[in-house]
Amino acid sequence: MARYTEAKCRLCRREGQKLFLKGDRCFTDKCAWDRRPAAPGQHGRLRKKLSDYAVQLREKQKVRRMYGILEEQFRSYFQRADMQKGVTGVNLLMLLERRLDNVIYRLGFANSRDQARQLVRHGLFKLNGHRVTIPSLQVKTGDVVEVREKNRQTPVLLEAQQVIARRGCPSWLEADGAAFKGTVKALPVREDVQFPINEHLIVELYSK
Ligand code: SF4
Repeated sequence: MARYTEAKCRLCRREGQKLFLKGDRCFTDKCAWDRRPAAPGQHGRLRKKLSDYAVQLREKQKVRRMYGILEEQFRSYFQRADMQKGVTGVNLLMLLERRLDNVIYRLGFANSRDQARQLVRHGLFKLNGHRVTIPSLQVKTGDVVEVREKNRQTPVLLEAQQVIARRGCPSWLEADGAAFKGTVKALPVREDVQFPINEHLIVELYSK
């Protein structure tokens, strides 16, 4: 499967804000955005006035990169969101939040969504008692995610309790680090995504 393999910090610098793609490193003074807060490249420090289209494009790229989704798949999420009842931009964010890899990241079982995706692909998790290897699975209310017994000594998973205590867990999820388990208490709502996102710009971009 195709995936982005270049330096992740470049993505934060390109989008002009921290996207927290590298786990704990993002909270240290090694963060590339904190050290060089400018777009990558020779002319990165030049201030450019962005057109409306560029602003919309950057917002879409920011969200896409944050969740680690490739363009084609992101567009198909948008189409699904557009077909649902309600506000398309909010529907889009909720579809992204409900991805299994995002849920595992939010539960504190991984330091980043990338790492969560890798752990799922390697079959370290069970969803409702069944082993899963598809990071894009959509969770629903009442779903239980747990680490397989034989994988509970994996270092990143052993740290889950500390990560939950440090990072907290959104209200729609319930994490139990000691039992290596998490429950989806309810579907996420817009307020659960605290990161600054103007989803209407993405809708405007795709509606052209
Ligand atoms: Fe972005 Fe900083 Fe994390 Fe690198 S370390 S991914 S620049 S937030």
